[in-house]
Amino acid sequence: MNRAKVIMSAMLILISLVALSQSGITNPEDFFKFKPGADRMLFDYEKLIEYLNVVDKESPRVKMLQIGESEMGKPLYMVLLSSEQNIENLDKLKAINKELAINYKLPDKTVDKYAGEGKVFLLATLSMHADEVGPAQAAPLVVYKVASTTDAELLSYLDNVVYMLVPSHNPDGMDMVVNNYLKNKGTRYEGTPFPGVYHKYVGHDINRDFVTLSQSSTKAINRLYNDEWFPQVMVEKHQMGSRGVRYFVPPKHDPIAVNVDAELWTWDGIFGMGMQKDMTEQGLKGVVQGYAFDDYWPGSTETAHWKNMIAMLTEAASVKVATPIYQEDNEFSVSGKGLSEYEKSSNFPDPWPGGWWKLSDILEYELSSTFSLIKTASLHKEEVLKLRNRLCVKEVAKGETKPPYYYILPKEQHDESEFIRLVNLLLAHGINVYTLNKDINLDNTLYHNGDVVVPLAQPFRAFIKEVMEHQEFPVRHYTKGGAIIKPYDITSWSLPLHRGVNSVEIDKKYASVNEALTPVNGEFKCSTGEVADKYKYAIFPAESNDSYKAAFIALNDGLKVWRTTAESVVNGLTISKGSFIIGKSSKMKEVLDEIDITPVFTEKDFDVEKSEVTMPRVALVETFMHDMDAGWTRFLFDSYNINYKVVHPGDFETTDFNSFDVVIFPDNNKDILKSGKYKSADGVYSIPSYPPEYTKGIGDKGMNNLLNFFNDGGVIVAWGRSTGLFSGNLSIPAGEKEKDIFRLPFNDISKDMSKKGLYCPGSFVSVNLKKDLELTQGMPGKIGVFYRGNPVFTTSVPTFVDMDRRVIAKFAKDDILLSGYAENIKLVANKSAIVWLKRNKGQMVLFSFSPQFRASTPVAYKLLFNSILLKKLE
Ligand SMILES: [Zn+2]
Repeated sequence: MNRAKVIMSAMLILISLVALSQSGITNPEDFFKFKPGADRMLFDYEKLIEYLNVVDKESPRVKMLQIGESEMGKPLYMVLLSSEQNIENLDKLKAINKELAINYKLPDKTVDKYAGEGKVFLLATLSMHADEVGPAQAAPLVVYKVASTTDAELLSYLDNVVYMLVPSHNPDGMDMVVNNYLKNKGTRYEGTPFPGVYHKYVGHDINRDFVTLSQSSTKAINRLYNDEWFPQVMVEKHQMGSRGVRYFVPPKHDPIAVNVDAELWTWDGIFGMGMQKDMTEQGLKGVVQGYAFDDYWPGSTETAHWKNMIAMLTEAASVKVATPIYQEDNEFSVSGKGLSEYEKSSNFPDPWPGGWWKLSDILEYELSSTFSLIKTASLHKEEVLKLRNRLCVKEVAKGETKPPYYYILPKEQHDESEFIRLVNLLLAHGINVYTLNKDINLDNTLYHNGDVVVPLAQPFRAFIKEVMEHQEFPVRHYTKGGAIIKPYDITSWSLPLHRGVNSVEIDKKYASVNEALTPVNGEFKCSTGEVADKYKYAIFPAESNDSYKAAFIALNDGLKVWRTTAESVVNGLTISKGSFIIGKSSKMKEVLDEIDITPVFTEKDFDVEKSEVTMPRVALVETFMHDMDAGWTRFLFDSYNINYKVVHPGDFETTDFNSFDVVIFPDNNKDILKSGKYKSADGVYSIPSYPPEYTKGIGDKGMNNLLNFFNDGGVIVAWGRSTGLFSGNLSIPAGEKEKDIFRLPFNDISKDMSKKGLYCPGSFVSVNLKKDLELTQGMPGKIGVFYRGNPVFTTSVPTFVDMDRRVIAKFAKDDILLSGYAENIKLVANKSAIVWLKRNKGQMVLFSFSPQFRASTPVAYKLLFNSILLKKLE
């Protein structure tokens, strides 16, 4: 305890002796000058943190720690709330947590001792989806209640529980949403959605980053799981739609991850039922369990389960950000899993009757659910702590007795940089990773000194299995022979597959493996990263994503960069076509510091065909409609030092496209791009809820501008639904009244396929790539790609000679599905997956799949980079 706290707690005792009602803790209402949750009132992140800092100083039950930084550089905090004694004892309690979580050899007596002395650490992350403002706005009330309470029952719970509150998981987004709300308050657009992604890059997808850990805030939360704190229970606090149930608590609906131990599922139910019971007892109506949300996708709670945590989410019905809504009792609708009617049901025993629903209601439900969680954790303290160690023991035992026993990642990989990054990602997830310290032979396969081994006999076995194996969707039905329970999100997240890293599953147990293991401590490295003393050129192999990164960094630094245009041999090594060459430079060290591979240095001039690479001028098209795929693309480009300028569809009319070489269209609805509005099946446009400056589409003039750019030699790269912009008849004005009408020689037949039963909710499928093309440099002949069932391309001989097309990639003929779920995927067999089109000197590269899906498909990045670097047609 610091001095200020000693003095403060002494004062607290005095104050509480004088007047029990005067806790000495600053009341949120006094601080914010309004009661949190008041109609149409919000505080921003800075004010929230300011308040928490005040209470941190005032209360010995509160301790605030910085845990990281947001993507835009705001400090991320965790506030620990517990009894004064627990806050003083955090180091000892953390040590107990760690022992229980990962020591599978603890004697029973020690487990009992720790279960007695230890506390339940309950992590809560609030409002990661920043437009779901309620949980973060409730944070001051939760903290105030803990700091000021004199209630003996609550104090006894706080003796058993350390509540780890992350007051906002997404501070950048919180400020964006709050400022936008306050700006529009009092106008027609009060309470309408934030125009753009409420995050530097990824918006709602922040909860889709818990395998890849690409974002700094996700990394910070992940560190809490397995670096130091090892909480036994975690909850994410969200909001959902406003037209149905008021509050979701666990358990979640089917399907559930089969790799997760049965006991964890039962505990989700105990905490969930506790909330439903306590909230109903307090008169809070409309609490539902087992509804809408399933537990088979790679979100925050799911990946926490994979690491043996009791993990939950709660979801409150939303208002219009902070503006109340009125709900008529015949307007209710429920959709999704677990509830087909808005009626009293076993999982929904007390329907809310309708009426006004306000931010203050959300906060009341938040407070109630939070203190119910603390209570349940306290009531079951010893059981929860013992469970944590039992799971650790069980998982290790499963890894020792059931295949697979190991995953081996040979050090010779197609893309060395992705191999290194995958190993470091596993380490960041708290996985024990080893290298072989000698060659070993397993069933006539030789594995080499330096190959990486991930044994399954470790506490986070379920996590290892989930991220290393191919996903097999747990197919469940509502009724026997009836419809399947469809996935909530994507169905594939296999790290080796998504990264193009070769991983061998070893299903037999070999003593020789365990004897040859050396643990990887700290960062995994394969090379020194040093610049050679003497060299003329550094050669970066085309196979590595890092080589592209090196090239983009070098170009940004003003260095000369070439690509080889034929295979060559340097220092006895074969250098494949498309490798990057950078001449000797004082900036070489800066380049190498940013990447994980070391280039081949050569002192001699070498005779190789090469052509100079210049930094392309890239326009990236992003709408204001929460355009997450564009956000992920920005993230990828920033990570690879690719310069770009964001162009909104509404700017197309006035954009000088001659100032760009490449225009990129991430996946988006074609009608949103064209007209800024969704179009229903019967052709009716929706009325957008954003102010008009955010809903302008490309329009006819803008499209003319873009197609002129293309016709004059520009490159257009598009994927997913955006490719629809370029199918069918296109036209460019030619003179006063004439139009140059043309149709590019491709079609999208996915609608027809979908009528025939094609269903692919986000799965990994096999494609064959044509060799020796500019677009496939550095690529193997066959890869997996992330695909959602549309588009499906066909091509044809063009009508006029000014056009042409090439099929760059085709879906495999057989064994198309590599990971995840799909129905009738055979329909896409041998159909085109990437097409290159040209008209006059313009070029277009259309992908049916996402080459950069959620920054989690590095296997396909080079296809996108090659498209950006495509040479102009002479
Ligand atoms: Zn949410």
